[in-house]
Parts: sequence; C-alpha cells; structure tokens
Amino acid sequence: MKKFVCARCGACCRWPGAVKLEDAEVDAIAETLGISVEEFLAEHTRITPDRQHLSLCEKDNGECEYLSVDDQGLPTCLIEKAKPRQCREFPEKWNFPDWQSKCAGRYEKL
Ligand code: SF4
Ligand code: SF4
Repeated sequence: MKKFVCARCGACCRWPGAVKLEDAEVDAIAETLGISVEEFLAEHTRITPDRQHLSLCEKDNGECEYLSVDDQGLPTCLIEKAKPRQCREFPEKWNFPDWQSKCAGRYEKL
C-alpha cells in the first residue's frame, strides 16, 4: 500500500486551468468568503471554455485566485475549509498533463 504525501509546493494551484465547481461548493465557498452566492458567482467564477462547468477565476499569472502564502512563506489556500473536490482529489482522481514533473509530492509506503 502507498500513500500520497503532499509537499505543499503549490504547483497544482499554479496550474493555469479550470478548477471546476459543484453546486454545493459554490455555497460553501461563498460562506467561507463571507459574501453572497450572487457576488461570488459574479465576481469570482467563470464558465469553462466547453460551457459545461463553472470554474474559479485565476489571477493574471494563471494561478488560482485563492493561492496565498502563510506566515512561514509556504503556499496556502485561502478557502481551505471549502476547497473544491478537484483540489482535494489531486493527484489521484484528478490531475493535469505532466503533473508528475511539477508536483513535489511523493508516494510513501504505509
Ligand atoms: S482552491 Fe485552494 S487548493 Fe484549489 S487551486 Fe485554489 S488555492 Fe489551490
Ligand atoms: S503540486 Fe503536489 S506537492 Fe505541490 S501542493 Fe500540489 S499536491 Fe502538494
């Protein structure tokens, strides 16, 4: 048995692609941010190019809007409590092309 251990490098949050949202996640993120669902949808989400999903917005450099840095200089998620399933399931159930060359995490034997 192996377990994936995240090294908190932040590369998955810098990947310039969609972070797809489920309906319940929209409510949870709006609550975490302390704003209305309407404001969150209008100001902080976009439609994916295939028009099939809602996604979080990105910064101009392509990284996720909610990627920040903590007191120790490590990458951190500003919506950690409510982060979407896509993020929670990286890299095992969702990942992006060539993710292994960017992710500093490793599989360790249990
Ligand atoms: S929501 Fe959080 S975990 Fe997901 S990509 Fe953005 S910063 Fe990373
Ligand atoms: S790219 Fe890998 S090691 Fe880096 S934060 Fe994401 S899961 Fe963790």
